[in-house]
Amino acid sequence: MSILYIVATPIGNLEDISKRALRTLSEVDLILCEDTRQTKKLLERYQINTQTLSYHQHSKPAKVDEIVDMLKQGKNLALVSEAGTPGISDPGSKLIAELTKFEDQSIKVVPIPGPSALTAAASLAGFSMDKFIFLGFPPVKNKRQKFFKEMAELKYPVILYESPHRIIKTLISLGDRQVVVCRELTKKFETIYRGTAKDILNKLGKEEIKGEFVVIVKRK
Ligand code: SAM
Repeated sequence: MSILYIVATPIGNLEDISKRALRTLSEVDLILCEDTRQTKKLLERYQINTQTLSYHQHSKPAKVDEIVDMLKQGKNLALVSEAGTPGISDPGSKLIAELTKFEDQSIKVVPIPGPSALTAAASLAGFSMDKFIFLGFPPVKNKRQKFFKEMAELKYPVILYESPHRIIKTLISLGDRQVVVCRELTKKFETIYRGTAKDILNKLGKEEIKGEFVVIVKRK
């Protein structure tokens, strides 16, 4: 039985990794990394010497064939993204879809759960998150207006991911909605802003915005 482990890694603080994840990363034959340089920082910290191979959203189909071949030969592999849980706004689904074709030929996919910016943000919302909708990154250009219009109709809290380049634009689109903005979770400059999107725009000021963001939009 060959196994592809889907391993969650820290979203900032390198201590946020499970013992099982570390053991898996040290025991597999190869680690497939969205960003090998980023993963090497984690591996160096825990003195893990496993070989790495780049696998990201632009990887060619031949790379998937190469990975499938390695699994068919009996190798165990781990898939990690740049940060957090693979498959959540990160590569993973295409490879896993391909592997499901071989499930009867002794290739198994096993999750090693752990950090995600999604669950870290949801955990500190301060209002009920028993049900919520995750919409990932808002569209960059076309369909943006439609996206926010449709979002306004939803009856549950919504979680969005946002980049430093577009956080201002997104907060402008959210206007009077009550939001929780989580910046740089688990990192040195972790900051949580609560209030209307307009209030938070004022707090963020006009200087160059840095960091990674999760926005939780409270239900109306
Ligand atoms: N797979 C990852 C996960 O499980 O969280 C998410 C990958 S997605 C490409 C990257 C986005 O996640 C960032 O643009 C940001 O919206 C969010 N994110 C990741 N790390 C974060 C952090 N430390 N603080 C706040 N947001 C973060």
